[in-house]
Amino acid sequence: MNQVVKSGKVLSPTTPWTDRSVPGIQAPDEQQSLKATFTEPTIECSECHALVTRTAMSFNVFVCPQCDEHLRMKARDRLNWFFDQVTEELGLEFAAKDPLHFTDSKPYPERMKEAQKKTGETEALLAMQGQLKGVNMMAVAFEFDFMGGSMGTVVGDRFVQAAERAIEQRLPLICFASSGGARMQEGMLSLMQMARTSAVIQKVKNAGLPYIVVLTHPVYGGVTASLAMLGDVHIAEPKAMIGFAGKRVIEQTVRETLQEPFQRAEFLLDHGVIDQIVHRHALRDTVYRIVAKLMNLP
Ligand SMILES: [Zn+2]
Repeated sequence: MNQVVKSGKVLSPTTPWTDRSVPGIQAPDEQQSLKATFTEPTIECSECHALVTRTAMSFNVFVCPQCDEHLRMKARDRLNWFFDQVTEELGLEFAAKDPLHFTDSKPYPERMKEAQKKTGETEALLAMQGQLKGVNMMAVAFEFDFMGGSMGTVVGDRFVQAAERAIEQRLPLICFASSGGARMQEGMLSLMQMARTSAVIQKVKNAGLPYIVVLTHPVYGGVTASLAMLGDVHIAEPKAMIGFAGKRVIEQTVRETLQEPFQRAEFLLDHGVIDQIVHRHALRDTVYRIVAKLMNLP
């Protein structure tokens, strides 16, 4: 008498209430309930493995709402978020060449095309001019997914162009660094960018303009050894890994075991390498405050 029918199966009165049918609502049959339904794309947090929708994540500037982990942000997302308004993107005319005809497991031009397809960017550095709270600024950001944010000639070109524009128009220069270092496929030419960017940063300083570096996870190699460590102020995001050589290489060289939190932003702050660790939610305000102070803005 009290038996309920669900999914073609006869359920006994002892069936938990959660499994019983609701009058007026047709229970999906088994075939239907197994079918995939459309869901919004989600992003998995690398720390707590929470699945968060892309929309929710981007509203929270890619900070995990569950555990506060700062996930990697795409360079374009980063600059569009940083500026209230972007007025111009610079350096799109530069294209990398392959003077060494470098081939590792794949030829360099092929690797380049793959990176362009994967990221939708033409190179590993984006340079944009825009306004933050009504102040004109120049900002560059590394795209880590583009060949590890490696610094080749085009990255150097764009950086120099951004710095020269900053000098010309008397703008502060902000750099969001995230890189594995120099681009080995360009050999010596890539290493030259360390000297080139360092020289242009000195020009920015000689012009009395602030150069602020925001270190985002991870910053290594030739980028740490040049433009990422030459700022007037060094800000890092929580838990960012910052170093020159990686842990394994150092361990092999000094023959010692290195423990966490070695090379983490928090460790570097304690040892005076960086000035401040700033939560991503407070980053725009912090950068604005520093620029306003350094440039005597009202
Ligand atoms: Zn998380």
